[in-house]
This record gives sequence, C-alpha cells and structure tokens, in this order.
Amino acid sequence: MSTVELTGIGLLTTQTAEFGDLPNAAVLIDGDRIAWVGPAGSVPDADEQVDLGGRCVLPGFVDSHAHLVFAGDRSEEFAARMAGVPYSAGGIRTTVEATRAAGDEALTTRVAALTKEMRASGITTYEIKSGYGLTVHDEARSLQVAAQFTSETTFLGAHVVAPEYARTPADYVDLVCGDMLAACAPYARWIDVFCERGAFDADAARSVLLAGGRAGLGARVHANQLGPGRGVQLACEMGAASADHCTHLSAADIDALASSDTVATLLPGAEFSTRANYPDARRLLDAGVSVALATDCNPGTSYTTSMPFCIALAVREMGMTPNEAVHAATVGGAAALRRNDIGSITPGARADLVALDAPNPIHLAYRPGVPLVSAVWKDGLRVH
Ligand SMILES: [Zn+2]
Repeated sequence: MSTVELTGIGLLTTQTAEFGDLPNAAVLIDGDRIAWVGPAGSVPDADEQVDLGGRCVLPGFVDSHAHLVFAGDRSEEFAARMAGVPYSAGGIRTTVEATRAAGDEALTTRVAALTKEMRASGITTYEIKSGYGLTVHDEARSLQVAAQFTSETTFLGAHVVAPEYARTPADYVDLVCGDMLAACAPYARWIDVFCERGAFDADAARSVLLAGGRAGLGARVHANQLGPGRGVQLACEMGAASADHCTHLSAADIDALASSDTVATLLPGAEFSTRANYPDARRLLDAGVSVALATDCNPGTSYTTSMPFCIALAVREMGMTPNEAVHAATVGGAAALRRNDIGSITPGARADLVALDAPNPIHLAYRPGVPLVSAVWKDGLRVH
C-alpha cells in the first residue's frame, strides 16, 4: 500500500475529542485508512506529498438520508408550491410513475450524476433509499441500482401506499412485509417507513419495522415531518438508528430521543423546499440528543446534493453553531448509520477527507452558496 502525506493544512478539524482542531497540521494516509494525525513538522515520511497551501481540512460529510433512485422532474410542482399550493405526501406518486417507466440504465445514470454532485459538495458516504418503485420488481431493482453505489442501502417500500392499493392499504402493508421485503432484503442494510398522516400510521409502521428486523435489516423512520405524531417515539421504542425530519416535536418526543440511541436526523433542505418551519435543533442539542444533518436529496421536496447548503441552513435557521452543524454533518451522520469508521479524522478511520478553500469550516455557513470544496478524498483516493 502506498502512503500519502497531506501537509500544509492551515486548520485540521478532526471531530474527535482526542485531537480537536489542530493548526498547521498534517495527515498521513496509508491505503484507504488514516495512519497518523499531528503537527506538520513531525509527520512520518510518505511515498507522496500533497501540500494544501494553508487550506482547512475536515472529515468527509456523511449523508445518512438520500433518495437517489428515481426518474422524472418535479420542478413545476416546486414552482406551484412556491406560488402557494401546499405539500402533501401524495406528491411521491408522480415520481413513482416516472420511476416505474424508466429502465435500469436510466436510473443508474441518474444516481451516477448525483454521486458526482455529492462528491463535489464533500460527501464521501451516502445512504440511498428505494421507495419510488412500490412494486416487488421495482423496489428490488431500485435497491440493486443503489447497491452499485453504496453499502448503505435502505428498503423504503413503505414510502406511501402504492396507487394500486389505495382502497386496500392493509394489503399493501402485507406485501411490503412479505414478498417485497423478501425480494429487497438481499440488497438492503436498512428498512425505513414514512410514519405520517397520508402515508403509514404507527401500527403499520411498527409491523414494517418488525418484519425488517426479522429479515436482518436495521430500522430508520421518517418521523414527525408534516405534523406531530407517533413516529419519533416509535423509532426510539424500536431502537431505530435514526428518526428523520423531527420537525414537529413534543417535549415527550425530545425526552424519548434524549434517553435512546436513536439519532435525530434533521433535513433542512426539505423545510426550505416546502417553505415550512425548520426543526428546532437548539432544543434537541440542549436536551442532549444526538443530531445528524442530511440532504434528503429527492426530486419532490429537497432536490439538493449540497451538504454545505444544509449546514448553512442549520446555522441560519435552526439555532446550531457552525461547529455543531459540521459535527452533525460528519460524526452525526456516521452515528445515524451506526458507523465509527467514518465521520472523523483519526488513525484507523477511513481516509475520507475534504479540503476547503477557506481558513476554517465556519466559512461553510459564513459564505453560503460559494463552492468552497477544493479537494475530496474517499478511502484514500482523490475523488474530486
Ligand atoms: Zn426522506
């Protein structure tokens, strides 16, 4: 394995308690792992040297919530919403129609294009959900496409009730828990359910998560996005890795999150794109809840692949400090995927790093909309 020394780092934000923020630092990469972290003057010899010219370096972002397997375009729906038409969960069906009609190659090409965008925004690990097929065949092929790009694949057959089952939603839940799960589980690590009015109630959601658990899949929940509900407490009760959205929370929801291992994953791109009120991240952090930030990249309600944009929103609109937002986009995302080999810069971790054209990561929020990501390494390889 060859070694690469990243030197000339003006500020290294490791996101670890051990190293913290190191000025004038260097990182030694050995193969796909970080081998050494410390002051620039004492870095061990390496086969290759890369001088970063004083740029700051932080861990690659971990996007724990994205819906990348889809076809079609919903920009007109976005324009209508901005003109005052309210959002409901039903908009998903538009994308379902287009996705079913698309070939595998078209779906794969789209995911590849979005992957390129994500890399450019500094994302080095991302989760991909199915959920726009809603038939056994289309959900399974969506996950086969996703699995070509990431090991963090999530079966979301319970996104909304498939249109064919509009009059018999209980039969659709049986399908999701039966044949659909059996066809999808080989390609999935996680199972997710949209627990919301207009999608699935808490009892149906529990059945889906239990069936997924029996098939060896870890639980995640779309919870409390559009209104108050039982999703967050269900996620905590079921030991889900993450409760995602958390826009409408009661005091009991926050208590449940604070006393569980379930991460609250906040998706401010969705509030931005639906012109909704943002979740109160400050309240969650002050209660001791683990918080992640993710893009929720999807064609209906958050068509962004930019983690820096989400960080800027989290700081401006959700009461997070810039450091808290960066932590949530790295360590937080890793926790939401129950991973400890990503999200921080420490010996033994995967060599996933981002260099910014900036003296520190505060600039991600301070200079919103500016493409500051200058270089990205994933598993020790320069990918942007
Ligand atoms: Zn989502």
